[in-house]
Amino acid sequence: MAGQAQIIDGKAVAEQVRAQVARDVANLKNSHGITPGLAVVIVGEDPASQVYVRNKGKQTTAAGMKSVEHKLPATVSELKLLELVGELNRADDIHGILVQLPLPKHIDAAKVIEAIDPLKDVDGFHPVNVGRLSIGARALVPCTPAGCMILAKTVKPSLEGLDAIVIGRSNIVGKPLAQLLLAAGCTVTVAHSKTRDLPAQVRRADLVMAAVGRPEFVRGDWIKPGAIVIDVGINRVTGADGRDKLVGDVAYDEAAKVAGAITPVPGGVGPMTIACLLRNTLEAARGVAGDVG
Ligand code: NDP
Repeated sequence: MAGQAQIIDGKAVAEQVRAQVARDVANLKNSHGITPGLAVVIVGEDPASQVYVRNKGKQTTAAGMKSVEHKLPATVSELKLLELVGELNRADDIHGILVQLPLPKHIDAAKVIEAIDPLKDVDGFHPVNVGRLSIGARALVPCTPAGCMILAKTVKPSLEGLDAIVIGRSNIVGKPLAQLLLAAGCTVTVAHSKTRDLPAQVRRADLVMAAVGRPEFVRGDWIKPGAIVIDVGINRVTGADGRDKLVGDVAYDEAAKVAGAITPVPGGVGPMTIACLLRNTLEAARGVAGDVG
């Protein structure tokens, strides 16, 4: 059935998530005298990371939490960074630690992630959280995949029984997303650069989650009519007018004619990532309070 898909408004949903976090933060302060604290560590001057970190700080404070930023020069040694992580692990007023990636080449990112206390690992990248997620135990879940699940559930609160495809198998998006879909009762296909006949795989899916990093890669005629399409991609391209613009991994105009619901780029998955980071920080602080079991 050709039509126009429902547009999933990630900005509005993210605002609701942040508002709920702010209410829960206020309750936690009242009940336990705890103010959740998030420490963000940034190494070097990467402009995109700087903007992202600034937004994180603003939104953390707006939700009533404590926000701490540690800016280190690109030349900082791995040892110094590990020492800082150790200090933050021991700090009672810090419940969430996020080390902004990418890190300079001379620093082993895996080593730094493993140095973070898993209970404070609000990015959900520590092997303990990765493992806990995969066995269905309570874990801090990576923020972007968590945001994708919330958006899909705004269309269909139960995803049970759906055929889902995740395009992309990165550790930060594709793999955790596949775990979350599995936990939600979907039958999950994980596609990647070696997948054969990707369009045919996508055509079978009721739920398509694209995390490829290639502009408008997924075409409209790959989409099963009525499917839910969640586009994680953020790609900067030059438009016909010569100006830079952001597009997703899905050819939006084509896909919106076939899908039942679709996220736009920008304004879809993007805003959910920080909202889920705040949620994770709250959850980490609640863990300290013994508030959640
Ligand atoms: P990666 O580059 O780490 O992973 C890309 C994945 O896509 C890989 O698994 C790769 O397969 C697969 N892939 C590449 N080419 C093809 C192809 N031709 N056919 C099928 N699969 C292919 O990217 P990320 O997971 O980090 O990010 C994906 C996208 O999401 C990017 O656009 C990024 O900007 C965006 N993003 C958005 C966020 C947000 O907040 N909204 C947060 C994080 C990322 P293989 O493993 O075989 O190489």
